[in-house]
Amino acid sequence: LAQAGIQGLTPYQPGKPIDEVARELNLPLEQIVKLASNENPHGPSPQVVAALQASLAELPRYPDGSGYRLKAALAERLDLDPEQITLGNGSNELLDLIGRCWLTPGTNAVYSQYAFAVYPITTQAADAEHRQIPAKNWGHDLPAMAAAIDAQTRVVFIANPNNPTGTWLSEKQLREFMAQVPEQVLVVLDEAYCEYVTESAYPKSLALLADYPNLIICRTFSKAYGLAGLRIGYSLSSTQIAATLNRIRLPFNVSQLALTAAEAALADQDFLAQSLETNRAGLLQLETSFHELGLEYIPSVGNFICVRVGDAAAINQALLEKGVIVRPLAPYQMPEHLRISIGLPEENQRFLEALRQVLDQ
Ligand code: PMP
Repeated sequence: LAQAGIQGLTPYQPGKPIDEVARELNLPLEQIVKLASNENPHGPSPQVVAALQASLAELPRYPDGSGYRLKAALAERLDLDPEQITLGNGSNELLDLIGRCWLTPGTNAVYSQYAFAVYPITTQAADAEHRQIPAKNWGHDLPAMAAAIDAQTRVVFIANPNNPTGTWLSEKQLREFMAQVPEQVLVVLDEAYCEYVTESAYPKSLALLADYPNLIICRTFSKAYGLAGLRIGYSLSSTQIAATLNRIRLPFNVSQLALTAAEAALADQDFLAQSLETNRAGLLQLETSFHELGLEYIPSVGNFICVRVGDAAAINQALLEKGVIVRPLAPYQMPEHLRISIGLPEENQRFLEALRQVLDQ
């Protein structure tokens, strides 16, 4: 028998793949709109595609196991030491490595209600106790999270912005929290969606890193950089924390294609800017329409938004039958909300038309 924590887990539920939905509905692939997994609707930069084509010749060789060039490029851009960077097979792998390094039976991890689904997975996989703290206005209640920390707490997970709710925390809130956290507790600041945030009070988290040695920041190339399919993320921390993760990081955990693509993606900041602009406009398009439809939504700073539709399971099914894939939030105990990833203007329009029809039925 697997250990108790693992037996109690429900597996992560990914969004349905578009080809599967197309087959089920007997529709051509082009008629399916998928706004379910917070991907970049532009896909990757054309420079990434060119770099990938050029790197196909490298396939017979093992990748650069240290990720030397990518780490150097990130270190230069972020003004850090490359030894503060750990690369992962998606930032999910980094969350998993953290759980494996810091959590054991008898310890606990603190995170918020409506937090990203991988935090309970990594916590329970270690058979550690999870302390899920009730959310405040759909976001983290940091004072309550600080109060929940005890001598057995090893890790606190914070997503900023949070997925699925899209809420965010300011630098002031985060600093007040960090000041209350004992030094032996590792704080994981998950910034998977940080590139999208424009609020001036959003934390300049690299400065926090210099002030708090027990902080680790996780980021990803899956979202704004459009590389979700390649699986590559990175963490920023003290060199000691990075060295700890490196002890159990499997050899060659990141493929050469992913390393090459991430380097090219980082170099194409114009593409990133275009992606962020598409997102800003799309978020506004959805908010305006929700307003017109009289639907309540949770204000979001990410590339997705949660809208309250009532019986979300039924609305989700009706949208699916029209070829529109969005994300129901039952696994997060949000049975009245759907999470919609921001797409291209025409994809958002298709979703909105389908939603209007479904609500009119
Ligand atoms: N953190 C958060 C908050 C996320 O929403 C996601 C992706 N859904 C991840 C981490 C993991 O992303 P990836 O493994 O693709 O880097």
